[in-house]
Amino acid sequence: MTPPSTAVPAALVEEWVAAADEVDAFEVALSLAAKVSRDDEAELDRARLLLMVGRPGEALAVLARQHFVELPAEPGASWPYLLLAACRAAVGDDDAYRRLLSVVAMVPGRWEPLYLVGAAAEQRGDYGTADQAWTALVQVHHVVTRFTLARFLAGVLARRDRDDSRATLRAVVEEFLVRDPDLRTNPRPILAAAENLRRRGDHAGSALLLRAAGSRLPGVDALQATTIRRPAPLRWMHVPLLAVAAAIAVWCDLPPLVLAGLVPVLVVRGIAARSRVRGFSAADSAAWRAALRWRQGPTARSVDTEQMLVGGLVAAIVCTASVPIAGAFAGAVAGRPAAIARTVQYAAVSGLVFAALSVLLTGAGLGLLALARRHNWRTERRARQASDRYRLSDAGDCRCWRTTALTGSYAAAYLGRHLTPAMPGSALGRCPSTGALWLATTDEENGQLLLLRGADRPASDPSAQPKTANGYL
Ligand SMILES: [Zn+2]
Repeated sequence: MTPPSTAVPAALVEEWVAAADEVDAFEVALSLAAKVSRDDEAELDRARLLLMVGRPGEALAVLARQHFVELPAEPGASWPYLLLAACRAAVGDDDAYRRLLSVVAMVPGRWEPLYLVGAAAEQRGDYGTADQAWTALVQVHHVVTRFTLARFLAGVLARRDRDDSRATLRAVVEEFLVRDPDLRTNPRPILAAAENLRRRGDHAGSALLLRAAGSRLPGVDALQATTIRRPAPLRWMHVPLLAVAAAIAVWCDLPPLVLAGLVPVLVVRGIAARSRVRGFSAADSAAWRAALRWRQGPTARSVDTEQMLVGGLVAAIVCTASVPIAGAFAGAVAGRPAAIARTVQYAAVSGLVFAALSVLLTGAGLGLLALARRHNWRTERRARQASDRYRLSDAGDCRCWRTTALTGSYAAAYLGRHLTPAMPGSALGRCPSTGALWLATTDEENGQLLLLRGADRPASDPSAQPKTANGYL
């Protein structure tokens, strides 16, 4: 939806700007701010927004128009100079960066300067410092937006355990799911985190995140499209190896001998499990393979040792029992072997029959697994739908008196259930209780609906209000 083109009081737009800023929708705030003529303080805000969207050069130009050009000799914590130091640091000024950090150190416990430090450090490529700023915002100050969450979790993944990255990878994906209820319909934070990792040179981390998220959220097309496809190695290699063993077992008339074929199967699998994915460390390669197994959903995502033993036993019984069947087939085709040539034919036919049986049984097993996964996904989806219903159950109740901005699915539910259209054809919704005017717009960066609250006063007939040169759009 586009902002209304009809006359809207500038004060109202200022409130929408502040509301967009509150949920870190910096691009939306900037584009709204550009529509009104603003005072000096608002210009400082615009410089900050420009820094946050990665345009520090333009931010410096705005600050220069406000006569903030040189940093004072004495370090002080005045906001404009802090902002100036951050913008100059972002374009590569080392001295300004040092001064920014030393001034922020003088005001511990404040969350606002953390945004400046995070943005400046990130734009300079100092991801270690940026990570600390985003981590403090999320974990200490509980500022959780799509902007901070993606950066915070990218930082967590970038610092993953070099010996075992599986646990970190899984924790990061689960944290995304817990913190952002709209992730399944809109995975932008994960894509942003992957991009963040790629920018800092951690290509393995970026690929791991996309793969793990793609496995965990199999229905999300945007993630599937970005996941690098690599062939699953040696998935069916057990069939020819076991077929050779079966041929020998039939030839010797000793069915349990087929289990000897499991030895090369296990050896080859062991080698495959230890081989590295190109460009990945050993731990990352292990995480890469583990991520595929997370597809089943939370109700049954892993196989424990007991289940593996039972499965192995069943496989051994099935393998052994298949040998006499293969022998009977071979006997029917080639008769009892007496000469060398007939023995070879006998062994070849029994091996082929055994291979066909293996393919059939493996296919059936994979089919059953697919059914189990499907069931798990359905269970998970039902649980998610129930939790979504609960989460949105109060979207019809007025919260205009305490909330200034809403995002995503909650915003959509609030717009539909609580607000009434303020003007036909406009993107404005009005609260029936307080008269607050909400602007419905789209945050292009996150691809989600934004609801921004304006003045708590009814603007019943905007055209009747006096127009001034600066006061209206
Ligand atoms: Zn309301």
